[in-house]
Amino acid sequence: MAWEVVSWACGHNGHIQMYGPLSGRTARQAQEAEQKCFACWLLRQWASGNDPRAGNVDAARAIAEGNGIHISPFALAASGAAALRAEAAELRARAAELERRAAEIETAPAPAV
Ligand SMILES: [Zn+2]
Repeated sequence: MAWEVVSWACGHNGHIQMYGPLSGRTARQAQEAEQKCFACWLLRQWASGNDPRAGNVDAARAIAEGNGIHISPFALAASGAAALRAEAAELRARAAELERRAAEIETAPAPAV
């Protein structure tokens, strides 16, 4: 068992308790790097579900801690609604990027066989 350093896509950093061989821990670190931290995920769930804990960063971090995920302290800059709108903007930007790549594939010359 080891505490491995993790940097998540949301910009937060911390450590996760990991078990097993190094290759599995490295794969988990890469997987975590592509997603939001557990606290951000929880905060989004709470905000979208009108949970009274919406915006409660400390509660989210404490639950993460109980699941073997230590997230360095952070301040929640945006309110619940603003955070959801920021995420919607991110998703629109991601959708536009995927459309652009799909169009590139469609307009690329067919590979020589
Ligand atoms: Zn986060």
